[in-house]
Amino acid sequence: MRQRIVAGNWKMNTNRAVARQLAGAVVQGVGSETRVQVVVCPPFPYLTEVAEVLAGSPVALGGQNCYERNEGAFTGEVSPTMLVDVGCRYVILGHSERRHILGETDAFIGRKVDAALKAGLRVILCVGETLEERQAGQVNSVFDRQLQGGLAHADKGLLSNVVIAYEPVWAIGTGHTATPEQVQEAHRFLRTRLSEMGVPDLPILYGGSVDAAKAPKLFAAPDVDGGLIGGASLKPDQFLAIVQAALPQG
Ligand code: PEP
Repeated sequence: MRQRIVAGNWKMNTNRAVARQLAGAVVQGVGSETRVQVVVCPPFPYLTEVAEVLAGSPVALGGQNCYERNEGAFTGEVSPTMLVDVGCRYVILGHSERRHILGETDAFIGRKVDAALKAGLRVILCVGETLEERQAGQVNSVFDRQLQGGLAHADKGLLSNVVIAYEPVWAIGTGHTATPEQVQEAHRFLRTRLSEMGVPDLPILYGGSVDAAKAPKLFAAPDVDGGLIGGASLKPDQFLAIVQAALPQG
């Protein structure tokens, strides 16, 4: 059975008080449910506080990014071992906002994935095409480039700690969710590639304007193992309903 995961990417939102409240509401709503691994990814300054709120619950903490080295003269960067030190078990890497706004390349992302895995983190590696790439029929070649680049340096023995998130750029924060058919087609292709790498059972999450209403149909697709949730992860009722929708059916 593949692991089911719902991760909340809070992006550059919340403040100290709101982060605590939001984490508290997630902890309370998740209770002792472990059939879906719930992850919250607050901004760096609130990781420690949120870790305190999550203590003793099955909800895991994640970082939204990290650097490729563990220490040194890299002003403004945060290392994988620092994330582990404050209680993170997960880190999001290759998010499209970092690729497209901050200019991160596949090569850089690949080095960060390697460092994060070596530090003991589970990596949520985001892949996904722009609208122009979709319209040009390049979806699968984008996946191949981003998977090859993102996993280029990953230690084979640590690949089982990777989670893939399919996040079409045109669907992130736009309200234009991909259809369950588009998502299944993409996840099927990604799973074929993962099978060729010897890791067919890695969880593949969908992300892009998922809300409580759309989640059940998206999560019912056979190769979808949960979601990476942006906007809706800031609303506890929405987020918890999305977690419910990810529970194994039957
Ligand atoms: C995301 O940022 O990973 C994301 C999927 O955002 P949203 O749910 O807001 O589209």
